[in-house]
Amino acid sequence: MIEGIGIDYGSYSDVGAVRAENQDRALVAPPVFVVADGMGGHRGGAEAAQTVVDELALLAGTAVTTAQVQDRLQAANDAIAASAPEAFAPPGTTLTGALLTAVDGAPYWMVINVGDSRTYLWRGAALEQITVDHSEVQELVDAGRITAAEAETHPQRNVITRAVGIGPTVQADLWMIPVRPGDRLLACSDGVTKELSGATIAGLLGAPVDSARAAHDLVAAAVAAGGSDNATAVVVTVLDDPAASLDDDTVRLGTGTQE
Ligand code: MG
Repeated sequence: MIEGIGIDYGSYSDVGAVRAENQDRALVAPPVFVVADGMGGHRGGAEAAQTVVDELALLAGTAVTTAQVQDRLQAANDAIAASAPEAFAPPGTTLTGALLTAVDGAPYWMVINVGDSRTYLWRGAALEQITVDHSEVQELVDAGRITAAEAETHPQRNVITRAVGIGPTVQADLWMIPVRPGDRLLACSDGVTKELSGATIAGLLGAPVDSARAAHDLVAAAVAAGGSDNATAVVVTVLDDPAASLDDDTVRLGTGTQE
């Protein structure tokens, strides 16, 4: 059970200014809030992203465990791998975001990541990047061979080292973070983070607007800044006052279908 949490959430996605097809997918289905960025020619990338969000959508309205999440990711991984024609490299997809869950009755963000989409937490007027990219440039940064600033323009910056669907098993990173009133979580594809600085993301995410507007404004800013890739954002805000008036897109966890 997750008691006494009111949340407001929204998502927005744009094909961008260059690409012909949007291969990003967003899922906002409490307690599941994720973004998937598909990669692969023809329709493979979009289908891979759709497959992983469809699997996680099966967890909507349930009290989720890490084992269930990993089972759904593996099911998506197997379905994507099986869908690829033998002559082609398998399509794949990133997956990041959070599932709201409870530990001993206390609410937690279960943050998940595979690939180079990112999840951030806005808390106490500060932006923290929770996830660590699974990418070649992140490995170079970790090894001290390049700086984070150099990574942003490195020729290998789009090469990811983990994805759903490209191998026999999928290995996700998981974080469990206690929920605080006023938290605002952002999951977004690299079409947002490669166009906008951390300061710009912080400014838009911290603005006094609802989650749907914040998601829209982040994506619109990424497109205006160049839109070189599909751009997608999912935003979830934990209300300061759980008894605050709730919109259609606001749910109170711990009541209704939450078990
Ligand atoms: Mg992308």
